[in-house]
Amino acid sequence: MNRRTFLSAPVFAVPLAAAPSSGAPAIETRIRRLRLRHTWTTVMSSSEYRDTFFVEYSRDGITGIGEGAPIIRYRESAESCRAALESIRPWLVGQRPEAFVKLMDGVFRRIEGNFAAKAALDIALLDWNAQKLGVPLWRWFGLDRNDAPLTTFSIGIDKADVIRQKVREAEDFPVLKIKVGLDNDEEVIAAVRSVTRKPLRVDANEGFRSKEEAVEKINWLEKQGVEFIEQPLPAANLEDMNWIRKRVHIPVFADEACLHPADVPRLAPYFDGVNVKVDKCGGLLEAKRMIEMARSLGLKVMLGCMVSSSVAITAAAHLSPLVDYADLDGNLLIANDPYEGVRVDKGRLILPDRPGLGLRPRPGAA
Ligand code: MG
Repeated sequence: MNRRTFLSAPVFAVPLAAAPSSGAPAIETRIRRLRLRHTWTTVMSSSEYRDTFFVEYSRDGITGIGEGAPIIRYRESAESCRAALESIRPWLVGQRPEAFVKLMDGVFRRIEGNFAAKAALDIALLDWNAQKLGVPLWRWFGLDRNDAPLTTFSIGIDKADVIRQKVREAEDFPVLKIKVGLDNDEEVIAAVRSVTRKPLRVDANEGFRSKEEAVEKINWLEKQGVEFIEQPLPAANLEDMNWIRKRVHIPVFADEACLHPADVPRLAPYFDGVNVKVDKCGGLLEAKRMIEMARSLGLKVMLGCMVSSSVAITAAAHLSPLVDYADLDGNLLIANDPYEGVRVDKGRLILPDRPGLGLRPRPGAA
């Protein structure tokens, strides 16, 4: 090639560094109604089904799937989550999924509240990226799936005969989580103890009405073989927590009081541990920040969940090697799970060894 032909040759574009994805993504948002196996009752509500919010993010022949369970207590619904995500669609389709930390930062700045919507998108993007790299998400986080803890199986508040039935159905789980906080705590625990001697963990969901009642109940629960308790008092009541902790022996965890990374240092003087939920904080990236912050402050960490399908539960399970305790049973409480992912064997979480979340459609699922 002489100088003349060189100058007239077509100019080839210099490839931009790290731009492996091309074209606009296809983003689907949908609401699924998950039917509960048993009516699910806690201090807050009683329900036969839950509507959760799903995101499917497709690009380059790969689809990442995410799910978030809206929390009514924080004024979210599946519809509000869908509307929130749809409101940023024009911006979202122009973003590169590989830069998901920057992308999610932009999402947090653009969407107020609606953390289940953020969680669904965060999970879909991480599923997409880990699939693109061909690694399971736990490996991408640098974790060992053999470190995944046991999960509890949760027993909602119910009549004694139904509780006995639920406890029998949970035979494979070595530790149970029992919901208390209404007026029938003695009846609930007696029904559980009439069937099993397993260790128990208890969640009061802010249900105890005074610090005195909390101390009396917690010390009684300890004698019933309870290892620790979640959120005995309303989330806003921190001043009574240290009074309580001076008078009980078992650890006390914050759940409703602990939503976001910034809550963790604020709560550290008042609790022994925190319950981190992907749906509360808005995704796996935020959940990991909370776990690391809690660890750095010497707090115990539980990874909890809402009633949801195997999408959200499997996503949380990929972080579970980082925590002390898992309560990841929300998918086991529903009758129409569209996917399968994490499995449970005698209470132990078995993380998929497939790329991304490792989800598969459940055979025969609608
Ligand atoms: Mg709880």
